Order: sequence, then structure tokens, then C-alpha cells
Amino acid sequence: MTASVLEFSPENTRPFLQEVMEQSGQMLTACYQCRKCAAGCTVGDETGSFTPNILIRAIVLGDRETALNNELIWKCVSCYTCGTRCPNDIQTARITETLKKMAKKAHVQPVLPKVAAFHDAFVESGMRWGRLNEMEFMGVYELKNALREAKTKNYETVVKEFKTQAELGLAMLKLKRLHFGFLFSKGRGEIKALYRKNRYKQALKAKRG
Ligand code: SF4
Ligand code: SF4
Repeated sequence: MTASVLEFSPENTRPFLQEVMEQSGQMLTACYQCRKCAAGCTVGDETGSFTPNILIRAIVLGDRETALNNELIWKCVSCYTCGTRCPNDIQTARITETLKKMAKKAHVQPVLPKVAAFHDAFVESGMRWGRLNEMEFMGVYELKNALREAKTKNYETVVKEFKTQAELGLAMLKLKRLHFGFLFSKGRGEIKALYRKNRYKQALKAKRG
């Protein structure tokens, strides 16, 4: 599989690049396309030719559409292997996380809706309880998927998915790997305060333009 040609849009280049660099805290302009990140990416086999260096190139060229619509941002497992290998200390995991948030904010239809639902349910649960609550997380995740499939009248998939998850849940229960109840961390208040602070900072920035 060969990579598609990236579009250069001069009018969008600087604002988009600046936005991603500020939000991710990564100096993307330092990238000189050595591809060390690409050679070590854990999900390289899953994303075809769309490697971390291509993602960075798309952002540097101001190709917002490519940067927000690709499998890497949804398949990246935040293993930080690319960042460890990068001679310029560029952490692509922080960039993919930033782009996920930007895609959501811009209402871009995710390339992999199931992964997006998983990510949302995970973050929501972590934010609410300061840690992941397995039952709540799985319930919300399954509900998001079921609603999406129901919208397209794909009821067969909904039933199949519930069956698979029920079987998985039972197997985990037998192995005592499923925890009931809403567990929360001691630092839950601090985690919530951090999210609130971040949201406030972003709102302030948006107001200033
Ligand atoms: S390893 Fe770093 S410098 Fe090399 S292509 Fe990847 S991001 Fe760019
Ligand atoms: S952090 Fe993401 S992009 Fe980097 S090596 Fe791991 S999976 Fe690949």
C-alpha cells in the first residue's frame, strides 16, 4: 500500500501547526523525517503506510483533513516507542491524543467509531471516578455502540455484540477478573480539578482568539 499524496495548503499551515504544537506540547518543526518512529511503531502493521512521520508531515503541511482522518490517531496505543526512538524527542502519542480531541471538537466522523466510543467511555469514567470503573465503562461503551448501530437499523450487529460481551463478562466473572461496585481513587477531586482547569484555559484561549 502506498501513501496518498499530502496536500499543501499554505493558508492553513501555520494556524493548524501552531494549534497542534501548543496543545500537544511537541516541537513538530524539529522533525526531519528520519523515519525512526515509523520503523518502531507498535501498530505499524495495522495502519499500513500511515506512519507517525507521515502524520507529522501532514500537520506541518497544514493538511488538517488528513491529520484528523486517519487510522493512526485511533489505533495508536500510546506506547511511546516512537518518542523513545526519536532523535528530536517528539512524542507522537501526545500528538495523536491531541488530534483525537480536535476531531471530536470539530465533529469529524471518526474513522473507527468503535475505537472512538471506547476512548470516550474510558476518559469519561476516569474523569468521574479518578480511575476506571469496569462495569460503568463497559456499559457506556456498549450503549454508545448499540445506539450507533440502531441508527442504521443494524440490529443483527447489536444482538451479536451483546452476546459476545455477555460471554466475555461471564468468563471474566468465573476468573474473578470482573469487579462490581463503583470504585474511586483518593485523588478523584484533584483529577477533576485538573480537567476543569484545562477546560477553563481552553475557553479563555478561544475567547481571545
Ligand atoms: S523519529 Fe522523530 S525526527 Fe524522525 S521522522 Fe519520527 S518524529 Fe521525525
Ligand atoms: S505511541 Fe502510538 S504512534 Fe508511537 S509507536 Fe506507539 S502506537 Fe505507534
